[in-house]
Amino acid sequence: MEVNPKLGIALVGLGRYSEGQLGPALKETQHCYLAGVVSGDAAKRGKWKSKYDLRDANLYDYQNFDAIKDNPAIEIVYVVLPNAMHAEYVIRAAEAGKHVICEKPMATSVADCHRMIDACNAAGVKLSVGYRLHFDPYNQEVMRLGQQEIFGPVTKVLADDSMNIEKHEWRLEGPLAGGGPLMNNGIYCVQAALYITGELPVAVRAEFFPVTNPSRFSTVEEGIGWSMEFPSGKKALCESSYVKDGNLIRVEAAQGWFELEPAYEYKGLKGRTSEGPIEFPTINQQAAQMDDFALCVKNNTTSKVPGEMGLRDVEILMAIYESARTGERVELNMDAYKTLIEV
Ligand code: NAD
Repeated sequence: MEVNPKLGIALVGLGRYSEGQLGPALKETQHCYLAGVVSGDAAKRGKWKSKYDLRDANLYDYQNFDAIKDNPAIEIVYVVLPNAMHAEYVIRAAEAGKHVICEKPMATSVADCHRMIDACNAAGVKLSVGYRLHFDPYNQEVMRLGQQEIFGPVTKVLADDSMNIEKHEWRLEGPLAGGGPLMNNGIYCVQAALYITGELPVAVRAEFFPVTNPSRFSTVEEGIGWSMEFPSGKKALCESSYVKDGNLIRVEAAQGWFELEPAYEYKGLKGRTSEGPIEFPTINQQAAQMDDFALCVKNNTTSKVPGEMGLRDVEILMAIYESARTGERVELNMDAYKTLIEV
């Protein structure tokens, strides 16, 4: 029998990110392919079946999802549901013996992140978070420029990831989203501050922006600004909002500066430094991210964006919310995450 060298992935949740990005990326991947889907909508399952030539046996709904444990064609489950549903489906996938990729933010509480990691460890499966920017050459370049002090030590990181949400959706519902723009977009600013400085934060301070549209923003914040302090004295100043657009990383260093704008998009990123432009060929970030995870599974190595990184970031997000609620500076002890800073 011919063995498919590509690992089978099943996407759980067939919304915009699956349809617009992950499905198409799985046509470009070298080490994995789209083998199945999990959706509550029979019409969507049928559409995906014909578009991606899926076998009937690899189509699941949320009720019969656990039967995936008996399906050797599916080795990786990718959870692409609203944030508050991540924990349940990651844990069910782990209990079915499947390796798991979970979309960001990993969960809506630190406790859920721990439960997800514990379930994957107990089942002996790998867990990774959909942090595509770690595989993007522009973001890899600012990691290098910052961590290797190419323009001298970094002094300040400014980051803004904001998007105007005009129509109602689950991102505006606290119970499903776990919070507003901080959870959805601000997480990228937090990530950038850490991968550019190469340090873990020791404290945060935050404030919610005044609400201009109370009917739309009744259960999540409309906007939030926060600062992060790092052990060396470096600072990050960040903001994230659902009533404007913003897509920036700007870094000041002792002997120059560098920036990306847009910084967090799927493609079309642009960068410059105090000495000239940053230019790389466009790649498919999602294909690179999923191929990397498939290789981790094949070679039994650890993902550079593991569940522990998702937990670390949710811990920081929760500290930012605590500071915004209380008006106090909130200290963090991130000693457990020292191995998670990449050079
Ligand atoms: P979406 O609203 O387009 O899709 C969500 C899917 O979940 C839909 O298919 C919907 O039918 C399904 N669903 C099941 N139960 C639901 C419920 N109770 N309420 C609402 N929807 C329900 O969302 P999306 O943009 O595809 O986001 C899904 C996840 O992917 C989120 O965690 C988001 O943060 C993440 N995401 C990540 C990136 C990235 O760049 N890494 C980009 C977009 C989205």
